[in-house]
Amino acid sequence: MDKIVINIIQKLKNKFPIFGINKIRELTRLIFEISKKEKIDFNNIINQIDETNYEKVKNLLLKRRYPQTYNIVPKDSFYLPDINISQKEQANLNLKDFYPKKVYYTNEVINSELYNRVKILYPKAIFTEIQSLKQFQKENKFSIYEYNRRKENLFLINEKYDFFKPCPCTKNVHCCNYSILNIGYGCLYECSYCFLQGYQNVAGIIFPCNIDEFLDINKIKPLNNNLFDLPRVGSGEFTDSLLFDDITLFSNNIVKFFKENQNIFFEFKTKSTNINNLLKLGGSRNIVISWSVNSEEMIEQNEYCTPKLEERLLAAKQCVQAGFSVGFHFDPVIFYSDWKQGYKKTVNMIFDFIDGKYIKWISIGSLRMPATLKKVIENRFSENEILDEELLLAYDGKLRYESTKRIEIYKYLSEQIKFHNSSIVVYLCMEDSNVWNLSKFKK
Ligand code: SF4
Ligand code: SF4
Repeated sequence: MDKIVINIIQKLKNKFPIFGINKIRELTRLIFEISKKEKIDFNNIINQIDETNYEKVKNLLLKRRYPQTYNIVPKDSFYLPDINISQKEQANLNLKDFYPKKVYYTNEVINSELYNRVKILYPKAIFTEIQSLKQFQKENKFSIYEYNRRKENLFLINEKYDFFKPCPCTKNVHCCNYSILNIGYGCLYECSYCFLQGYQNVAGIIFPCNIDEFLDINKIKPLNNNLFDLPRVGSGEFTDSLLFDDITLFSNNIVKFFKENQNIFFEFKTKSTNINNLLKLGGSRNIVISWSVNSEEMIEQNEYCTPKLEERLLAAKQCVQAGFSVGFHFDPVIFYSDWKQGYKKTVNMIFDFIDGKYIKWISIGSLRMPATLKKVIENRFSENEILDEELLLAYDGKLRYESTKRIEIYKYLSEQIKFHNSSIVVYLCMEDSNVWNLSKFKK
């Protein structure tokens, strides 16, 4: 356990000897977070407490930790798990060229183009046949430490079930009817908020070798949504859509397929600038290359190893010139002191680079995460500031900003976008109908 946490626990036990283990755990969490957020020594915070009643001590600390929401949300909105921080679980923020040490493959892929290309690209890698990914998972332990070493392992498998499916979204929100084409699993970037770090349970990057089997119009059945001219399918849920495209060349098959099926939008969602293959192929306006964007400060502080905003926008411009459409996702919007200035600058930069008539959609989603991700983030990114804000536990087990703050973010950003081009489709990701209405979004 982290030395500071041990010291907080000890000091609290000395000051409040009658408090049980659970009470000490909650107070430790609050003092740890206040100390980090206010950049104050925890000893000072504990010394300032002159109450002895547990409820009073806890309320005092909650009020200090959550000054804006303490009086307006139920007390069970404050998520106070125990703290298990271990220095050895820090993320590795040095992005080197991807060169797996080990390649694991199943027998069925050995005649695939991708398997043979990987053999040529990584001659020094150790190739090992496995019975199945499931079997490998059973036989190998997984932890955050292993996750941090995921770039060392590549898995080549045939995907059997999970290629095409509706976006899992979340409970009770206004869903946009998006569908996902699953072109792999795992990412080399290190975004502090990434949900994969709490979700992925294989220490490696996974490529399916049989995507051509699923590019079949009888298997791709996307849903309609009033907001968009055509039903939408996209990749980029469990991996970045283009980051590995120079290795997988998946864009060859995908672009060809959707050029032949222009009644569907296909979206490549990315933060990368790995667009050479797309530029060679040339586009079609139903194929939308979309970039996740953020303010430059938040990119620098949270999206480690990723291309800069300007580089992403230059890639977008080149894709438009090559005949593709583009999209942008302000996701996640992170609240910080200068957020309005930061995000306004990003909106302005988008329209400096791209003519709005080529932008098919822009989505906005504020920072949210499964509650369990909080402990993963504080382990992997101990210096993060995203957890210092007031993130509240919601009905679906996710942490989010309080709704008035989210509505303020959505109204502000959509106004900035509409100022440049009022006809672009702007929509919210993972928000309930009430927030859509209050943010004055058209559904
Ligand atoms: S709103 Fe967001 S999470 Fe929900 S279906 Fe659409 S893209 Fe997926
Ligand atoms: S680019 Fe996406 S998948 Fe990759 S680390 Fe960032 S959030 Fe995760």
